[in-house]
Amino acid sequence: MTDLLSALPPGSMIGILGGGQLGRMLSLAASKLGMRTHIYCPDFNSPAFEVTPHRTIAAYDDETALAAFADAVDVITYEFENVPAATAEFLAARKPLRPGANALAVSQDRLAEKSFLASKNIPVAPHRAVTMLAELEAAIDELGLPAVLKTTRLGYDGKGQRVLRERAEAAAAFAALEPKPLVLEAFVPFEQEISVVVARNAAGEVRAFDAAENVHRHHILFTSTVPANIPPGIEKHAAMLAKVIVVALDYVGVLGVEFFVVPGERPTLMVNEIAPRVHNSGHWTEAVCLTDQFEQHIRAVVGWPLGDPARMADVVMENLVGDEVDVVPSGLDGNTQPHLYGKTETRPGRKMGHINRITRR
Ligand code: AMP
Repeated sequence: MTDLLSALPPGSMIGILGGGQLGRMLSLAASKLGMRTHIYCPDFNSPAFEVTPHRTIAAYDDETALAAFADAVDVITYEFENVPAATAEFLAARKPLRPGANALAVSQDRLAEKSFLASKNIPVAPHRAVTMLAELEAAIDELGLPAVLKTTRLGYDGKGQRVLRERAEAAAAFAALEPKPLVLEAFVPFEQEISVVVARNAAGEVRAFDAAENVHRHHILFTSTVPANIPPGIEKHAAMLAKVIVVALDYVGVLGVEFFVVPGERPTLMVNEIAPRVHNSGHWTEAVCLTDQFEQHIRAVVGWPLGDPARMADVVMENLVGDEVDVVPSGLDGNTQPHLYGKTETRPGRKMGHINRITRR
């Protein structure tokens, strides 16, 4: 189905694939604009179900349920990048899917993503495809050690990757990582990690939020600090690269771009990965931006003009992982804005909420 350009009126129904916290926050933002949302998720216990009455609990390959879902909505978006290609294709034939299936195809596969980025002259880590152990040996010869061996699909929060420091570790890492194929990346001696959340609508308007400086703990995002303390020129350059990506993908919606800042006489940027959705490192926008990333995504997918992403204060977003969520409410003060995801079960490593701390007004 050709994507429609005209704006959907308030009261329209937005279908969201995925019922986690991102789906929940998208649903809340949509309601603020007078839109309704229908969440599709196989897990009956999804946090997003708490904020809208319209739901489908079914598998992502259940074509009867998918067809009924498509009939019930005006436009379809998603909160996670691992939407199966067949599901995306099935839905896109029935209703506009925003962002489109090509954004999913590129971001679901690290090799496809790196090839796409490199084809647009966007710097990525030197890398080699690895389908057999012999290829891994050859890739180590070419890229050197240390290096990072990763699955091409289904990796998140550091899952599906191993740092190789010695050749002797190669065979065991190759055997352990699934699914194949894998990709070996040269180890990037980065000094900082930053991200830019960028939006594009169907009319071609593009707006980027300020860059966030991200710190990870146990492979999970710990804090995003804005403004990022980065060398002059790097922020503008990151925003420019993010804009090149959304334009090249003919993208509609919000996209997260993660970068390494590589030190040197002239510090440079490398893209680590892109996520075709609202992004954890963009949660700070809800506390301090005229338009936050959730509203921006909804505005883009319903064909509305984008909002102003201007930032009104300095902020640190802190993820509440596992029982860290217990800091709420006693640890709050006038400079903190909590956002809890309403998950009924606290588990170690599970993202339960976040806090935005205003550091300077
Ligand atoms: P990823 O799953 O690709 O986002 O990687 C998770 C984290 O591992 C990144 O945020 C980096 O801290 C680290 N990492 C990933 N790839 C590399 C690399 N090629 N060189 C150095 N560190 C990396």
